[in-house]
Amino acid sequence: ATFGSLSDRLTETFKNLRTKGKLSASDVDGTVREIRRALLDADVSLDVVKQFTATVRERALSDEVNQALNPAQQVVQIVNEELIGILGGQQRRLEFAKNPPTVIMLAGLQGAGKTTLAGKLAKWLKKDGHTPMLVAADLQRPNAVTQLQVVGEQAGVPVFAPEPGNGVGNPVKVAKDAVKQAERQQYDVVVIDTAGRLGIDAELMKQASDIRKATNPDEVLFVIDAMIGQDAVNTAKAFQEGVDFTGVVLTKLDGDARGGAALSIASVTGRPIIFASTGEGLDDFEPFHPDRMASRILDLGDVLTLIEQAQQAFDEDEARKVAEKFATDSFTLDDFLKQMQQLKNMGSIKKMIGMLPGAGQMRQQLDQFDEGEVVRTEAIIQSMTPGERQNHKLLNGSRRLRIAKGSGMTVTDVNQLIQRFEQASKMMKTVAKGGVPNVPGMGPI
Ligand code: GDP
Repeated sequence: ATFGSLSDRLTETFKNLRTKGKLSASDVDGTVREIRRALLDADVSLDVVKQFTATVRERALSDEVNQALNPAQQVVQIVNEELIGILGGQQRRLEFAKNPPTVIMLAGLQGAGKTTLAGKLAKWLKKDGHTPMLVAADLQRPNAVTQLQVVGEQAGVPVFAPEPGNGVGNPVKVAKDAVKQAERQQYDVVVIDTAGRLGIDAELMKQASDIRKATNPDEVLFVIDAMIGQDAVNTAKAFQEGVDFTGVVLTKLDGDARGGAALSIASVTGRPIIFASTGEGLDDFEPFHPDRMASRILDLGDVLTLIEQAQQAFDEDEARKVAEKFATDSFTLDDFLKQMQQLKNMGSIKKMIGMLPGAGQMRQQLDQFDEGEVVRTEAIIQSMTPGERQNHKLLNGSRRLRIAKGSGMTVTDVNQLIQRFEQASKMMKTVAKGGVPNVPGMGPI
């Protein structure tokens, strides 16, 4: 999971805080120390960690926390806000040129995932109504052109590659010719894949910089493998000096490595992270949202992504209604059942649940997730009257017994279902309003 161990460490730290009422200065210091260790162990760069923990400490000791009803919760909120800050604050969208074609240049070390990203971008842009063209300006690595042609085909977009005898060996000319051709043929986005090296070298920088000068891109995306650890920061700085870039793409966030160096990049370079890649497939890719990433790391759940995925998979209006119901506390057992039935159709039920608040705590249970549970839940809810499904408070002891009999379950099963429903509604309500949820099993925070 993305930043799994960092996430576990931070959650553990907050768990200790939750048992406390008022926080003393030494509580705060202890917490800050643990956060500092967790970040450093995850490879977040020292400068970023220092600044981050200093700010969190200062805010945690201020009246803002002292006077709060629930100081621990306030501290979690502060860490969340500061984490969003180091990840770049606001979401930064890809910028398009006023006069097409928009030119997007990809730069980064070999193996960072540029060619794969070109395919992902092409597919994503196409879905969004654009007509992208890919350009093979990586003439260094054997096979790079073929590899780009393969992803281009998968994405269903054309690939501009040097013709034999014309421009071979001259990536600057290829890139320039490609932009001209895109203009003529009315492609509205040009994605230029450039060569990488295994390490930073002057020739690589010069070539990338020449391509940049020749094509005047609207976006230069620096692609960085989140798994390369501390080197990520130095590599980013080198590319910033050598080519400069307008945005960052983090790749391989699906890896189990510590990945924290990637968290430093936006702060260290002052450039926003625009996309995140989470796998080898062309769909394993999403626009980067600092706030969502922060809440994933802090295990606050990723309800917004969850809702968006639900929107894509099902009916958009339906999903929006559900989100509203959470916020206004009018989510009913009927809705719960409908959601479950839809989830069953989705297949990747685990992935969805993995994004719910507190899911990190349930990671082990998740692995044993039993889809038969859905069937049992269905049986129970379907044994209720329509009135009860609208208002679960009508379910008294004798009704619960009848429902248990009617569905072939025990009263305990029925009670557990209702308890889970109540917990879920409460959590989702808090999150839908932008708060930090109480996580079952962790006690009130
Ligand atoms: P390039 O040299 O920068 O063009 O890198 P490639 O696009 O060829 O990617 C290098 C390797 O990383 C390939 O095996 C890709 O399938 C793989 N890869 C790229 N992006 C991701 C990602 O987000 N997650 C994982 N797990 N693998 C990736």
